[in-house]
Amino acid sequence: MKPSPHIDFDRNAREALGNEFLQRALRSAMVRFRELQAPVIAEIPEWQALRAYAHEVKLHTLGRLDRYLQQLEQEVSARGGRVHWARDGGEAATIIARLARGRYVVKSKSMTSEEIHLNEALERAGCEVTEGDLGEYLIQLAGEAPSHIIAPVVHRSKESIAELLSAAAGTPLPAEPEVLTAAARRLLRQRFLRADVGITGVNFAVAETGTIVVVENEGNIRLTTSLPRIHIALMGIEKVIPRVADLAVFLTLLPRAATGQRMSSYVSFITGPRRPGEADGPEEFHLVIMDNGRARIQADAEMRESLACIRCGACLDVCPVFERTGGHAYESEYSGPIGAVITPLYRGLRAAGDLPFASSLCGACGEVCPVKIDLPRLLLELRARVVRERGASWSERIFVRAWTWVMTRPARLGFAARAARMLQRLVRRRLLPLPYPFSRWTVSRDLPVPPARAFRDGWSK
Ligand code: SF4
Repeated sequence: MKPSPHIDFDRNAREALGNEFLQRALRSAMVRFRELQAPVIAEIPEWQALRAYAHEVKLHTLGRLDRYLQQLEQEVSARGGRVHWARDGGEAATIIARLARGRYVVKSKSMTSEEIHLNEALERAGCEVTEGDLGEYLIQLAGEAPSHIIAPVVHRSKESIAELLSAAAGTPLPAEPEVLTAAARRLLRQRFLRADVGITGVNFAVAETGTIVVVENEGNIRLTTSLPRIHIALMGIEKVIPRVADLAVFLTLLPRAATGQRMSSYVSFITGPRRPGEADGPEEFHLVIMDNGRARIQADAEMRESLACIRCGACLDVCPVFERTGGHAYESEYSGPIGAVITPLYRGLRAAGDLPFASSLCGACGEVCPVKIDLPRLLLELRARVVRERGASWSERIFVRAWTWVMTRPARLGFAARAARMLQRLVRRRLLPLPYPFSRWTVSRDLPVPPARAFRDGWSK
C-alpha cells in the first residue's frame, strides 16, 4: 500500500488564519451551532445519563463486534438484502463500482464514502454520480472536499455558491438563499428521478433486526433509498448496535448534539429491499460492511473508544483550533478533535502525527461529546506515541528535563516562580515585542503583568 502523504497542519493553519472570510464564516457558524445546541440539550435533565448509556452500549458492542456483525449479516440476508464484506477502502469501492457499473447514481452524504474516495471509483466505472445532499452537491460542483462533518460548505460565501449553481443551471442566479435552494432543488429532483442506483451511508445498523438507520434534514436520503432500483448502503464495522431499543437513546443524542434539533427531519429505517405489495423501495438492497483500519483500532485497547463516534460534529463546534483553521487544514474527511484522533490512526503517525498537537487540550470536546468519548485522553496518548516514534527535539528534551527538575521540589518551584515573575516584569518593560523564537508565543497571546503577590505565597506558612 502507498504511504499516505504528510499532512502539514502548521502550514495549512497559517493559510487559514490569513483568510479573513474563512475566519468570519467559521466563527459565526460555530457560535450559531453552539447557540442551537445548548437549549435543546439543557431541556433533557438526564442528558449525562444518556451519554453514559450510549458510551456503554458502544463499548459493549465494540468488544463483541464479531458477534453483532454476524447477527447483522444473518438478519439482512433473511430479509432479502445482500451483505458484502470489504477489508479496506479499495475493496469497498470496487464492490460498489461493480454493482453500479455504467449506471446513473445518486449518493447521499456519507463520510465513509468520502474516506474511500468513492466518487472517483464510480466515475472510473462509467457511472454518472450526483451528490443528493445540498452541501455535498455544492462541494461536488466546486471539486472540493467537505470542511465540516455536518456543514460541508461552511467555508463558502453565498456569492460563491450562487456562481456554482448558476454554472450548473446555465442561468445567472442571485446570491439569495431561497432562490439558490429552489434552483438546487429543481436541478437535483431531475437527477433523483433518473437514477438507477442510490448510495447512502449508515448512521446505525441494528443487529437484532438487520435494519439500517439513516438520519437527515433535506429528504434526499428518502429519495435515494426509495426511488432508484438498487440501494447500496456503505458502513464501517463500528456502526452496528445491538438492539432497536438502543436507538431511542442515540436518536435523542445525535440531532441535539449535531444541529441543535430535537429530532432530525427525516429518520429512515430500512430493513431489506421492497417486499411484495409495497409501493416503493428498491428491488435490490446491498449492505457493504467495511473495515479499512477499524479492526486494528478496535484491537488497540487505548484507542478503541474513538470508534464510538456517531459523527455529530459537536467536538468541532467547540474546538478553538477548528474554529480558526476550519476543516481543510486537517487534509482529511475527518477534522476537528475527532479527526485529530482518527486520521493518525487510519493513515499512520508518520503521515498525520501533527494532528494530535492541533489542540489546546482545553477539554471542551470531551465535555460535549454525546457518546462521552474522552477525546483529550486520546489526543494525549497519540502525542506520546508520536514522540516515541519520531523522538523529541533536543530543545524539547532539555526543556522537559529542566521542567521536571523544577516541579519535583517545592523549594525549586518557589524560587523559579519568583525568578519568572521578575523576568516577566523585565521583559514587559524592555523587550516587547519579543524576538524569534519567543515571538511565536507572543504574536497571538498577551504577556500579562504578574501580580504583586503570587497565589502560592498566600498559602505558604
Ligand atoms: S467524537 Fe463525539 S462529539 Fe466528536 S463527532 Fe464524534 S460523537 Fe460527535
